[in-house]
Amino acid sequence: MSPRLSLLAALTLGLPCAAYELRHDSQGDVVAWQGHVDFVIDSKLAIQLDEPRTDGAIAAAIAVLDNATPTLVVRSHVADALPLGYRTDGSPNENGIVAITEDWPYDEKALAATVVTLNARTNLILDADIAINAERHHFRVVDSMPSNEQHGDVNDVQNTMTHELGHAVGLMHNADDPVVVMYPSAAPLEMSKRAYAQDDRAGLAALYSDSGVFVPDTKPVAIAGCSASGGGLTLIIAAVVLLFGTRRRHQEVVAVVAVLGAFAALADDARLPQVSQVEHATLATVVDRTTVRLPSNPGLFVTDLTLRVRDCVKGDCAASGTMIVRVPGGRLGDLEQVVDHQPVPPLSSTVLVTRERTASRPHVVTVDEPRRAELRRQIEAAGQPVPGSLAPQTSPPTRSPTR
Ligand SMILES: [Zn+2]
Repeated sequence: MSPRLSLLAALTLGLPCAAYELRHDSQGDVVAWQGHVDFVIDSKLAIQLDEPRTDGAIAAAIAVLDNATPTLVVRSHVADALPLGYRTDGSPNENGIVAITEDWPYDEKALAATVVTLNARTNLILDADIAINAERHHFRVVDSMPSNEQHGDVNDVQNTMTHELGHAVGLMHNADDPVVVMYPSAAPLEMSKRAYAQDDRAGLAALYSDSGVFVPDTKPVAIAGCSASGGGLTLIIAAVVLLFGTRRRHQEVVAVVAVLGAFAALADDARLPQVSQVEHATLATVVDRTTVRLPSNPGLFVTDLTLRVRDCVKGDCAASGTMIVRVPGGRLGDLEQVVDHQPVPPLSSTVLVTRERTASRPHVVTVDEPRRAELRRQIEAAGQPVPGSLAPQTSPPTRSPTR
């Protein structure tokens, strides 16, 4: 039976119409675990979060997930976790739940990030690690806090983990309904998303119930032939090449090197950044993608996107030339790695690269036709000229055959 069943198949099979999104590989196939998945809760986590109830809160989130996935057994235990990612050099792999307390490498606003490695040929998820952003956010078990401390930017451990575990087993965001667990953002002190909503459960059932639609291939797993040494949680990358800072008048100039501590973030695919809120915005086309393993941790994939600039939409950026932006994830052989829910933009796609005044790294978001129209509206609303590359796409005129 073909594994290439999707939401469309779910609809044709008469399952309830849902807004949930399942994780796909770069070929558009739904991916999932098979049989069981075990998570290792890092033994340092409770200390790093300064919350002694952390392990119990995560175990509770694991139990909630296990209950929602009849054909997938989900378990956890506490131990020293290995570095993030998936290695193929003979090193052991596990599904770690860890805190990152400095040099958070992903979207700075994110409470956590889930790194999923899958086999794009068999459509099986092979590895999922959850990193909690303890550098920029505070985590507690909210209902165990004294009520006079329940204020400010405090995030509930179980509420956060229930969302990330959804990513770890194959759910993506549902931006249509703020009450579902897989909604892209959570409010401080929120606990309502410790339990999956009906839509989340429908997505999990599509993947992990007898009435679900997912049947993975059982072909042997081919491993990409990469090997490297090193390790550790340090995700610092030596340099990211960016165009920002290049003067407009130097339109032929190619790129300026800016040394950043981490990747460009792949912006949430459910939201287009508000151009009014960012300092720089550049529209570009992906002309090359090169994926490598991160030297400091070969379990992690990174992709250098070569972008041909089409327009400087806002700020002090060049209106032509090329730039290279390093983003997390990518594909090596049959293996594909996706951070949280953001696939690396495909070749020939149009992307918007933005940077906020206070952010240390840019965001990259794919601009499809609906977003092209939204971006056009944003720029028109700001009273600025609409760049040529944002002009409405007109279909070629129909011609009568000539003789
Ligand atoms: Zn998420």
